[in-house]
Amino acid sequence: MLKLENVCVSYGNIRALRGINLEVRDGELVTLIGSNGAGKSTCLLAISGVMHPQAGRITYDGKDITRLPSNDIVRRGISQSPEGRHVFARLSVAENLMLGASQRRDRAGIERDREWVFSLFPVLRERLGQSAGTLSGGEQQMLAMGRALLSNPRLLLLDEPSLGLAPLMVETIFEVTRKVREKGGTILLVEQNARQALEVADRGYVLETGQIILEGTAAALKADEGVEKAYLGG
Ligand code: ATP
Repeated sequence: MLKLENVCVSYGNIRALRGINLEVRDGELVTLIGSNGAGKSTCLLAISGVMHPQAGRITYDGKDITRLPSNDIVRRGISQSPEGRHVFARLSVAENLMLGASQRRDRAGIERDREWVFSLFPVLRERLGQSAGTLSGGEQQMLAMGRALLSNPRLLLLDEPSLGLAPLMVETIFEVTRKVREKGGTILLVEQNARQALEVADRGYVLETGQIILEGTAAALKADEGVEKAYLGG
C-alpha cells in the first residue's frame, strides 16, 4: 500500500532522514520506533506531504505521491493524527470531529463512523458541546484520533499517541489502535513507547539518527537483545 524508498529529508544542513526504506501493506499495523530526534515525525510529515524529500520516492497504491501537496494526499485516504494533539482549541468537540469528515459526502457513513468513534471513546459524546481547548490532554488525544478516524482513512498515521498520558489513558489509546486494526484499518504508528507499540503491531522498524537500523516482525523485535537494551529497558 505505502512504500518509502531511499527517502532523504533535511532541515537546512540537518539530515533528519538519511535514506529510509519502509513499507506498510494493506491491513497491517506497522510501528516506527526510535528515541527523541530519531526522525520519526519527519518521516510522517514526508508521507503526508507537509515536507517534501530531497531524494527518494514515496508510493501509495503504486502511484508516486512524493511531491503531491498534503490536501491531495488526504484526499487519497491518508489521514494523520498529529503529535501534541493539535485540536482546534476554540471549536467544540463536535465541530472538531466534523472537520475530520469535511471531505466526505456520504452522510450515512459519517453518522455510522461518528457512532463508532463514540463507542471507542465514550467521553467524547459527553463533551460534544465543550470547547476542545478545555479538554484534558488524554481527551484531546482521543479527539485527535477520533477526528482522524472520521475521515474514514485507508491509511491512518498516528504520531506518538501515548505521549504524556497517564498509564490508564495510554492503555485506552493502544486498545483503540488495536480495534481499528481489527476492523481492517491500516496503520503506521510512530512511538517512543516501544514496549506497547510492539505489543499491538504486526511489524516494526527501528529508526536511529535518520536511518532504519533494524526491521522485522513485532515478535522478533521484542526478542532482539539490542532493542531490549535500548528501547525496552532490559
Ligand atoms: P521526537 O520523538 O522527539 O518527536 P522524532 O523522532 O520525531 O523525535 P523529528 O522531530 O523527526 O524526530 O526530528 C529529527 C531531527 O530533525 C532532529 O534532529 C530535529 O532536531 C530536526 N528537526 C526537526 N524539525 C526541524 C525543523 N523544523 N528545523 C530544523 N531541524 C528540525
